[in-house]
Amino acid sequence: EYDMIVQHIFGKDNTTADALSRYPVDLPDNNYYDSSIQQTITPPISITPSTTATKTALSTSSVKAVSLFYDNDVLYQHQNQDSHIQAIKNTRPLPANYVIDDHNVLYKIVTRKFGQRINPRYLPASLTPNVLLTYHNSTFNGAHFGIKRTFYKIRDRCYWSNMYKDIEQHILSCLNCRKNKPSRRKPDGHLQSIEPPRGVWERLAMDYVGPVPQSKSGKKYFIVLTVLFSKFVVTKAVYDNTSTTAARFLLYDVFMIYGVPSEI
Ligand SMILES: [Zn+2]
Repeated sequence: EYDMIVQHIFGKDNTTADALSRYPVDLPDNNYYDSSIQQTITPPISITPSTTATKTALSTSSVKAVSLFYDNDVLYQHQNQDSHIQAIKNTRPLPANYVIDDHNVLYKIVTRKFGQRINPRYLPASLTPNVLLTYHNSTFNGAHFGIKRTFYKIRDRCYWSNMYKDIEQHILSCLNCRKNKPSRRKPDGHLQSIEPPRGVWERLAMDYVGPVPQSKSGKKYFIVLTVLFSKFVVTKAVYDNTSTTAARFLLYDVFMIYGVPSEI
């Protein structure tokens, strides 16, 4: 049906954006219950499970269970062992940006852009590793996405102070990411030495320096021209780093004063 030729491209030459192959993905939303989470992760502290659901999640590693922080009883018990959360819960009246539900679980009230209000769970430190693993390391949700994407996923569901920093640190120290994130840049070319010139004004090199702090007249680049043989320098402060500026500099500040070199 299609007329085509299959051609092999070496991995190192295949620099197409791989992000495209990841779409579509679920965008951050307000669903507290995320049915796609099917991981069982051992809680960092031992607790007594009080419901059948929790018992199953904690004792049977092969059973696919909803992540721990989605279980109100587990969350309640972990929150109870966190002195900071306890202090907030015991404040009367409860501070305006918090809410406690029927299960005695503390939520934070967050107001987003355009006035949208959401109530993410207030996560005790003992459960943050679980969330980080679920949303970064698990195949179903995380798939080792980057810092921002992972943050957006988590912040709709959970809250803890310094969460962005923790997420950032978790991902920067993720071995899997370090090992497998391929560089999407084209490989650098090899350095090649240039023939040394035999006299002055034969071969010149030119480049822009900047942007540097802007001058009163608005100039923020230097254009620098060096004679490779004698290291004689011609330089000028300029407004931008365009080719027009470079051409004008060459014509009026170099050629018309010193003459035309054989090579730049
Ligand atoms: Zn990772």
